[in-house]
Amino acid sequence: MDSLRAKKGYICDMDGVIYRGDHLLPGVKEFVQWLYRENKKFLFLTNSSRRSPKELRQKLAAMGLDVGEEHFYTSALATAKFISRQSPGCSAYVIGEPALFQALTETGVTVYKAEDTAVEANPDYVIVGETDDYNYRNICQAIDYVFNGAKLIGTNTDLTAPLEHGIGPACRALLAPIEATTGRYAYYIGKPNPLMMRTGLKILGVHSEEAAMIGDRMDTDIIAGIESGLDSILVLSGVTSREIMKQYPYRPRLVLEGVGDIPEE
Ligand SMILES: [Mg+2]
Repeated sequence: MDSLRAKKGYICDMDGVIYRGDHLLPGVKEFVQWLYRENKKFLFLTNSSRRSPKELRQKLAAMGLDVGEEHFYTSALATAKFISRQSPGCSAYVIGEPALFQALTETGVTVYKAEDTAVEANPDYVIVGETDDYNYRNICQAIDYVFNGAKLIGTNTDLTAPLEHGIGPACRALLAPIEATTGRYAYYIGKPNPLMMRTGLKILGVHSEEAAMIGDRMDTDIIAGIESGLDSILVLSGVTSREIMKQYPYRPRLVLEGVGDIPEE
């Protein structure tokens, strides 16, 4: 625990670590106060491409937690950064929410949305993120572009997402019909892809050994930390129990009930 408290930087997953549904988890306010008091560098990192940093800030503010926009990093931002570096000035057909369109546009990508009927040429990429605006015509259009050579990108590999009443399809499930029909497989950007972790460390300005990754999922957060050289901390406040944890061939460095355990008494 002392070595965890001595880290310079913290990359924290959000859902199941900071909040659950519309409620902050116990001890989160104290943890964030501790981060500020100790002058720690920190980033709230989410695989969801639904919300912009501004919207995430508002979401937390509504729960009574004030965290600046600069502390949020999303798979939409990571995707935009990756695409714009791979092919500056490229174009993309995008199935997603406004936060994803915005992130891509800001890095100079020409974005075509489902409602754009006049796509002049075949776009360089088809990019899919979570969205409620998903239908048969969009899928057919995306398939057409992939058959014509567009590269297929997913913002994250999450298969399921918690809904208010049950479980819904997340990014990878939305890509499944496009992958199955075309026989092409998407490149996925979010955790556990080390791309996103490395960028997170760069934003914080700390080396991987000086940072910890805190999350509630073994197959994204914990493995991402391990593979990127950060200490991985599992919190039991989300989807993983000690029993589930034991089913994986790798272990977190530390297991905590929640982030509220981190500040010194
Ligand atoms: Mg989580």
